[in-house]
Amino acid sequence: MKIRGAVLETIGAARPYAASKPITISELELADPGPSELLLRVEAAGVCHSDLSVVDGNRVRPVPMLLGHEAAGRVEKVGAAVGNVKVGDRVVLAFLPRCGECAACATNGVMPCSKGSASNEVGELLGGGRRLERDGKPIQHHLGVSGFATHAVVDHRSVTRVDDDVPPDIAAVLGCAVLTGGGAVINAGRPKPGQTMAVVGLGGVGMAALMTGLAQEGVTVIGVDAMSAKLELARKLGAAETYTPQEVLERRVRADVVIEAAGNARAFETAVEMTAPGGRVVTVGLPAPDARSSISPLQLVAQAKTIIGSYLGSAVPSRDIPLFAQWWREGKLPVEELISAHIGMNSINEAMDALADRTAVRQIIVF
Ligand SMILES: [Zn+2]
Ligand SMILES: [Zn+2]
Repeated sequence: MKIRGAVLETIGAARPYAASKPITISELELADPGPSELLLRVEAAGVCHSDLSVVDGNRVRPVPMLLGHEAAGRVEKVGAAVGNVKVGDRVVLAFLPRCGECAACATNGVMPCSKGSASNEVGELLGGGRRLERDGKPIQHHLGVSGFATHAVVDHRSVTRVDDDVPPDIAAVLGCAVLTGGGAVINAGRPKPGQTMAVVGLGGVGMAALMTGLAQEGVTVIGVDAMSAKLELARKLGAAETYTPQEVLERRVRADVVIEAAGNARAFETAVEMTAPGGRVVTVGLPAPDARSSISPLQLVAQAKTIIGSYLGSAVPSRDIPLFAQWWREGKLPVEELISAHIGMNSINEAMDALADRTAVRQIIVF
């Protein structure tokens, strides 16, 4: 079928993207879903830093690629072997399909699925190959999702069903920002009542981690970011204290659990530094491949600190998305506060500029 989608044509284009336009909106041919796949009409898609990382070249992926990995939609067609969803269901997309059979999948989210990681790497679906073409030439899938389009064909192991009371924009954000940031808190950081949890870097993922920390009983939450507007939002959400990274170091601010969601080497150093003796630091941001940090090994030993790397919040989407949806329903997780704008697909290059300038938390493309 014919669809319209946002295709990244070149990597590392000059800023502003509004002028260089590395992403074009074009008509594409979408193949029918295979036996283990489904067709969905995309309802909403969030513009995330991991999309920008492909645009600016920090994550090298094959192009041309139909971007977008944080999305929600309505199922329109299912393959014969699909059992977890049916036509008409609203589903949340997760950017790492889980085959459910490999050794990594047996770790319950601690390690990313090796088969899903491999298909993501080459721009294919979990079942192999591509379902997208333009002028007879294949277009790469982004992380098994390619949600910046009117429709998508995805593997059934990339989706989790949610009830219809979860609106599309909230559902989309549950799949990346909340799963990653919230997952890092409940699956890796695991703050206990009476403890202090800090989040370094308050973009979509960091802000989701912050609100998940606030949803834990008896946990005091600290927000850290260089931008005052983000600290303001953190306080509005309920953070007890907020600091710039410089203030953290000057005032020797400490926390039992620190979530690093900025995705840069300096932020990681700040996060390790501010971890209290016996505490743990969870790093969930994605820095450039050549980034290196300088930390004190002596401090790690003498202060018995633990460093945890967490991909996709160490989450199992089918287990964790329903939990986050329920917390949203109960008012414990005000996901709408993460959404800074609703935009059309035609504004995608401008949206990438806003993300690169760090002025936006979550911009949602609506269809
Ligand atoms: Zn993302
Ligand atoms: Zn697997």
